[in-house]
Amino acid sequence: MTKAVRAQAVVNTFKIPTRKFDVPSDINGHPLRVSEYYGENVFDYHKSEILTKQDKQDIADILVKKKELSKEMADKFANAVLNWATGKGATHFTHWFQPLTGSTAEKHDAFLSIEGGKPVEKLSATQLIQGEPDASSFPNGGSRSTFEARGYTSWDLSSPIFLNTHENGKTLTIPTAFVSYNGEALDIKTPVLRSITQLSLAATKFLDLTNDSNREADMHDKVKVTCGCEQEYFLIDKGLYFERPDLVMGGRTLFGASTSRNQQLDDHYFGTIPERVLAFMSEVEVELYRLGIPAKTRHNEVAPGQFELAPIFDDANVAVDQNQMVMSVLKSVAIKHEFICLLHEKPFAGINGSGKHMNWSLGCSKHGNMLEPTATPHKNLKFLATVAVICEALFRHGASLRTAIASHSNDHRLGANEAPPSIISAFLGDTLTKILDAYGAGESYTDDNDKFMDLGADQLARLVKDNTDRNRTSPFAFTGNKFEFRAVGSSQNVGIPMTVLNGAVASVFNEVNIRVEKEKGEGKAMDDILMGVIKDLYNNSKAVVFNGDGYSQEWQDEAAKRGLPNLRTSADALKVIANTKANTFLTDLGIYSESELITRYNVRVEQYCLHRIIEFRTLLSMIHKDILPAAIEFKGRLAKSIDDQQDVKIDPRVDKELLSQINDHVNNLYDKAKKLNAPLDGLGHEIEDAEKIANELLPLSEEIAIEIAYLEENVSEELWPLPTYYDLLFVR
Ligand code: ADP
Ligand code: MG
Repeated sequence: MTKAVRAQAVVNTFKIPTRKFDVPSDINGHPLRVSEYYGENVFDYHKSEILTKQDKQDIADILVKKKELSKEMADKFANAVLNWATGKGATHFTHWFQPLTGSTAEKHDAFLSIEGGKPVEKLSATQLIQGEPDASSFPNGGSRSTFEARGYTSWDLSSPIFLNTHENGKTLTIPTAFVSYNGEALDIKTPVLRSITQLSLAATKFLDLTNDSNREADMHDKVKVTCGCEQEYFLIDKGLYFERPDLVMGGRTLFGASTSRNQQLDDHYFGTIPERVLAFMSEVEVELYRLGIPAKTRHNEVAPGQFELAPIFDDANVAVDQNQMVMSVLKSVAIKHEFICLLHEKPFAGINGSGKHMNWSLGCSKHGNMLEPTATPHKNLKFLATVAVICEALFRHGASLRTAIASHSNDHRLGANEAPPSIISAFLGDTLTKILDAYGAGESYTDDNDKFMDLGADQLARLVKDNTDRNRTSPFAFTGNKFEFRAVGSSQNVGIPMTVLNGAVASVFNEVNIRVEKEKGEGKAMDDILMGVIKDLYNNSKAVVFNGDGYSQEWQDEAAKRGLPNLRTSADALKVIANTKANTFLTDLGIYSESELITRYNVRVEQYCLHRIIEFRTLLSMIHKDILPAAIEFKGRLAKSIDDQQDVKIDPRVDKELLSQINDHVNNLYDKAKKLNAPLDGLGHEIEDAEKIANELLPLSEEIAIEIAYLEENVSEELWPLPTYYDLLFVR
């Protein structure tokens, strides 16, 4: 970006006042406590003024599936929702769903209806329960041809109905599943719900079987899957964003020379949050609180311009929906603050990318968290068996889990020496590994660890030692009382990894349950049964346990020796979806049908190709419209300067050297661009195309990026037409 343009951008940026927004207040203008307005944009039937006590009891029963939803009840519910929403100023309603693109979709209808020539607001039971969006434009992976593209949205009772607000109004938003005419899931949510049901059944059965008592009263209530997603993102200046077509078209910079200072000083991480950013975060939080999303932590992340938000965990199905809403609120509020929020996994080369740590656990009210080690984990056999089940699930289905997080954008992060590698392994920490190693070898374990961390300063409270040292390089880490799937990408819908993880763990629990039931019937003591389970599962699966540095080359070599899959690119990983045998754990449980898997395979391969082709075309256009003209102009200036100097008998040594170097790089750039362009028209969206893209064209585009970075650093700043990393990351 030329100096003059940058100077103007800086002036503009500093002119932007910190945005004041409407902090929720009472009629006297005093700010409300968060607890006073939390969830005000979420429909809560308990608070409805038009539902009777009996209606509310019926709804509660329907929600826990004790009762079927009748037409009459649906009418009452719809009416209560309508009354609440219009009372709050909503004019439209929408069925909100999560098509296979990974984002969310909505089509709005007005409540307005004309009855007997008079305007009235209406929301019928049918409108609440079922919708029929014109689905022909959603990717369907060949599962439906366009002319019969009938997809139905159907109300998901398990996720709250909410109001989406914009500056000038509100829309009643009904979370729905999206299915085809014959009941095939066309979305991400339906399989999530199925996987939660399966895992819940399997884990509840495990707890009941391993219960010492057989009395009905001691049986466990339904185990819930819990999830909390830490969301990382970048904020950049809105004005500069539109100057970079690569950011606008693909969400990442396709090239850029590193700045001399980026993250090496670690001075941004957990640093003071800049004023304008804090104003943004506060508004995001108010929006989320209104939506009943419990945003809990906020901080600067490692890279300049990078931040994180994490909510308090919730039931997995709710958490998946809420993460979609978090991403959407981040983006929309950012614009109000003259920022653009980038959710791409790798917006800038050379500095950290963004991930989404999917924290995951299991629990029920009677037993509590199944991943809680307690003070004596070595005696907590149910906990250890649960960990062993998870290790076995990871060991067997690591490839499927890798596939679940495969995308063109996450490819830049996985294995890039900053993020977990594309090898799926589990970090268990020292204590847990020692216990399992001992039990696996049939030995006993004595707890001789000093449980307190010596901080060497008496005035500091003695901290109880966390059982894990929080290894940051592991894709799947035990972090105290939950596992954290860290390889998930920042822009991804967590529904897909959630589904595969739940399915993998459920399938192993089911096998264990059969064994426990049998041995129990034979009169074996429960402790011996559990010890046997722990020993066998852990011995079988411990190749997947790795507590060392996941970024190192040694681990890649070691993992290969252990026979763990290392699916480096999406093109490699996506093939697993089409491998019927690799997916029987999912199809046997009814989480995906075979044809649903084929649909997903086709869609994801297509999405991969489409995104990359957009990137390549954008890159080529920027080369021809911006970069080559600037570099050629600079060459002309140098040539003229050489002539001028020779006229007055000065030796233009430096000019000549510069010209010759720039010329070489311009030639390289031009030739490589031609080579990238040649195959583009012939590219389709099949797996062979994806392979060609991943193995040939993407590496070629990366070589091109290096040529451009050279030019960016050597062509006069006066001529450089695009914002640089300096502008994007530091002008704020
Ligand atoms: P860190 O950055 O150290 O991993 P954070 O507090 O930023 O910790 O994030 C931890 C996330 O894990 C939060 O979203 C939290 O709600 C979630 N979490 C905590 N306990 C559970 C649990 N039992 N199940 C699922 N998620 C959990
Ligand atoms: Mg974390």
